Amino acid sequence: MSDIIRRDPRAEWIARNRLHPLHAAMQPAQHSWMGPNGVIRKNPHGVGFIGPNGIKRIDRSGAQQGGATKRSAAVEVQLPLHQVAAPAFYISVVPDMVGGRLSSHDRDLLGLAHQLAGKDGAVLAVVFGEHKENAFATAGVDRLLVLDGEEFSGYAPEQRVQGLRAVDNQFSPHHWLLPDSRSGGGELGRRFAAALGERPATRVWQVKDQECIGRAGAGLQDLARPLARLILAAAECAEPVSETRHEALPVELSTTVARSLSRIEDLGAVAVDPAAIPMAEAEFIFSGGNGVKDWGLFHRTAEALGATEGASRVAVDDGFMARDRQVGASGTWVTARVYVAVGISGAIQHLQGIGACDKVVAINLDPGCDMIKRADLSVIGESAEILQALIDAVAAYRNDAKRDAA
Ligand SMILES: Cc1cc2nc3c(=O)[nH]c(=O)nc-3n(C[C@H](O)[C@H](O)[C@H](O)COP(=O)(O)OP(=O)(O)OC[C@H]3O[C@@H](n4cnc5c(N)ncnc54)[C@H](O)[C@@H]3O)c2cc1C
Repeated sequence: MSDIIRRDPRAEWIARNRLHPLHAAMQPAQHSWMGPNGVIRKNPHGVGFIGPNGIKRIDRSGAQQGGATKRSAAVEVQLPLHQVAAPAFYISVVPDMVGGRLSSHDRDLLGLAHQLAGKDGAVLAVVFGEHKENAFATAGVDRLLVLDGEEFSGYAPEQRVQGLRAVDNQFSPHHWLLPDSRSGGGELGRRFAAALGERPATRVWQVKDQECIGRAGAGLQDLARPLARLILAAAECAEPVSETRHEALPVELSTTVARSLSRIEDLGAVAVDPAAIPMAEAEFIFSGGNGVKDWGLFHRTAEALGATEGASRVAVDDGFMARDRQVGASGTWVTARVYVAVGISGAIQHLQGIGACDKVVAINLDPGCDMIKRADLSVIGESAEILQALIDAVAAYRNDAKRDAA
């Protein structure tokens, strides 16, 4: 096994959160220490851990005693399983699955779905096309329905509406939740509402006391209306599921989905110049700071990765990057799915600007810097060496792909 220590931000969050049910299990085991009088003190309660049912377990294999060089936060957490054997009703969620994975917006919707499902209902996720997600269970999916026929792939909103209608006929969900996003959910939700002849609640940011509250009036007003069956919700509409694990049992449609008239022809994705994408909308940002010593290499790496370039204020002030590339409190607040910070220390003003990014990767010499604390994945080392290795890895990957295609 590799000796690389992989951080688990979720486990670290639980270790910090004293109100979390698994908090105690995530504390570093300190069995003995020097007391104020120089006497060695031992903690007899430090042995063992609390199991998922709240019962204390003692591991006699010796793994817990001594030699525990890795942080306990790296231990995999087994969350309590939430089971709904015979759902009284369903709450359906149609996640965007940008890049084949659940986005943070999708996870917020699953959190909202659980609020509506309570103990008796089950959350049914309807996913179109092939996906790469393996965390449906921890994101709160009780039942998973994958519609992966060729007809649903690419841009096929009319066919997807047909799919949703078939799901509606079979499962009759109490509520339908779709992300009110530009990644597909906003359009699909409105088309589905029109097909059902139902008025959806849009841009909903809160569901409370049988009411949906959504943004209206160019985002300047709130509109409260009775809880709708079809809800198009904004990001952060609810807390994502974090304390339970779910079954994610696969379910299938019992009928075939009707084919829609193909009035739309999908000509595929259009290649865009990453540099032309506004920073606030970029999905993949490669950002450089004071720790970048070879800016030519930095630009070549961003190009090889197909990423939009960003920068810290120091890199901008020193004239290496344009002012409109600055990320942070006095620059642009970004919402990338992946943010790579090369040689950026993680000053609070910079971290404010990347607060909404999904995954942060830090490349830095200093393992103790704040950017490494914020990052989901860290690479400690000289930036020039790591960037060159990245370019080589991308080239090797592309060559392999070309060879396989030939
Ligand atoms: C009012 C105000 C507003 C501000 N607004 C912003 C803002 O919007 N955005 C912003 O970014 N900053 C902003 N700042 C500045 C901010 O406080 C920091 O000074 C700045 O973010 C630091 O930039 P840096 O991380 O690139 O540089 P440094 O803090 O110098 O960090 C450089 C990092 O690179 C690492 N490093 C060095 N050499 C290498 C190497 N060879 N390989 C790998 N890593 C290496 C170091 O370990 C260090 O972590 C603002 C400050 C103020 C006062």
